[in-house]
Amino acid sequence: MKLTWVCVLIALAIPAVAADAARDAEVARLAEALRPKLVEMRRDFHMYPELSNREERTSRVIAERLRALGYTDVKTGVARFGVVAVLRGGRPGPVIALRADMDGLPVNEVLDVPYKSKNPGVKHACGHDVHMTVQLGVAELLMKMRDRLPGTVKLVFQPAEEGAPKGEAAGARQMVKEEVMERPKPAAIFALHTNPGLEAGQLGFVTGPMLASADRFWVRIVGKKAHAAWPHLGIDPVVVASEAVLALQTIRSRRIDPQDPVVLTVGKIEGGERENIIASEVRLLGTIRTFNEDTRSQIHRLMREVLSGVTSAHGASYDLEIERQYAVTSNPEPLAQQTRLSMERIVGKVNVVVTKPVSGAEDFSEFQKVTPGMMFWLGVANRQRGITAALHTADYDVDEEALVVGVKAMTGIVWDAMERAQ
Ligand SMILES: [Zn+2]
Repeated sequence: MKLTWVCVLIALAIPAVAADAARDAEVARLAEALRPKLVEMRRDFHMYPELSNREERTSRVIAERLRALGYTDVKTGVARFGVVAVLRGGRPGPVIALRADMDGLPVNEVLDVPYKSKNPGVKHACGHDVHMTVQLGVAELLMKMRDRLPGTVKLVFQPAEEGAPKGEAAGARQMVKEEVMERPKPAAIFALHTNPGLEAGQLGFVTGPMLASADRFWVRIVGKKAHAAWPHLGIDPVVVASEAVLALQTIRSRRIDPQDPVVLTVGKIEGGERENIIASEVRLLGTIRTFNEDTRSQIHRLMREVLSGVTSAHGASYDLEIERQYAVTSNPEPLAQQTRLSMERIVGKVNVVVTKPVSGAEDFSEFQKVTPGMMFWLGVANRQRGITAALHTADYDVDEEALVVGVKAMTGIVWDAMERAQ
């Protein structure tokens, strides 16, 4: 390349870099000013957690806050308690969507903090209180900078991420069904998730598969009732179920390539009446996690094979129901790499950590099926202060420092995605 061309390119790049830096500084200043408000919002959500598809108050608070910020296009009642708001920027550009999930978990809070959950038996143990707060923070910043915003942002607040009660529609799938990803149709969708494995201030990043697929299964093993003292007159489903649980483990250990990560867990066994009765049936409940669709289908087939073999060997029978809950959450290559550059510029290269895929699951994958989508981790731990509890535990907490970091990062990422598509 000729020197003159190099000079021209540098001359063209300098104003862009300077503009990014000036915008990052402005976003950082605005996010910093929001700090007390973010903490207050997060604590409010934390005190009033609601279960999947029951997010009535949460939905109301989100819609009220958006309207108070000046949002006029706010749709409620989407997929039951979901909220979708659209903000058109002052400059033309693409539509970029953001997603925050809204539900808490059936976990009893053990933390003794001023913002302890006021709904007994329910807790924001997965950080969805943080996700909503960050998204509302981004909503506020983008509204303040609206005249210069080079595109349209669609804010998606999604209910029922943690698994809807049986027979009810799950959040993301229902939102897609209700055409949340249409009119206006986003060019990309972004989401973040709290991660207690990373310190507040850090962001985590994965290209390709990030979170597993998840399926829920129910097995019913049917035997024959008898007096416990005459076992030969019955068929004992407790014994058959015990064998079945162990045999199912050999799918992971002996039938699937060790390089292919799989989880097959029986989380619950239920059956029997008392000590001197051979039960008539035993029920198992469990989960399957994989990182690709072929393995997922293979496991379903192998489970039938194993259950059929074990039960028929004892004269028992079974039925198996598998519910496909979530697909693999996977960040597509170009989008992931572009987002990484934004992240590194905003929080500094040292604070962007490349993380391994984990076997948790997310229904963000439903949006990724219809729109290029990127999810990243927001570090929330603070080892010095002892904030390290794992997701879904009774003492899960976050370092609220992460709120400002999340707002800064997400605002910058959205803006960059809009600029890129110009
Ligand atoms: Zn979650």
